Amino acid sequence: MAVTLDNYFVPGWRDATYTCAACEWQGSARQMPMELHEDEAQFDCPQCENPILLVVHPSLAQVQAAAAEGHPEAIEQLDILAAAPRPD
Ligand SMILES: [Zn+2]
Repeated sequence: MAVTLDNYFVPGWRDATYTCAACEWQGSARQMPMELHEDEAQFDCPQCENPILLVVHPSLAQVQAAAAEGHPEAIEQLDILAAAPRPD
């Protein structure tokens, strides 16, 4: 069963140690191959490909809140959004 993280901007999740429920591999998200899905980023076990971590894409409200708290990545994302053409 994969761990779901519903706030992308929680500090430290990339460096936390996770254990694969299937083969007991241990490591951080930096060591796991990532698959991008529509609603989330999925990190798989590098040893047996079992999904270990699901990181839900941040909502605009989460990006704005994190940017307001000074999260550098959120500020960068807001800048990208501001530069993108409006969908409507
Ligand atoms: Zn595994």
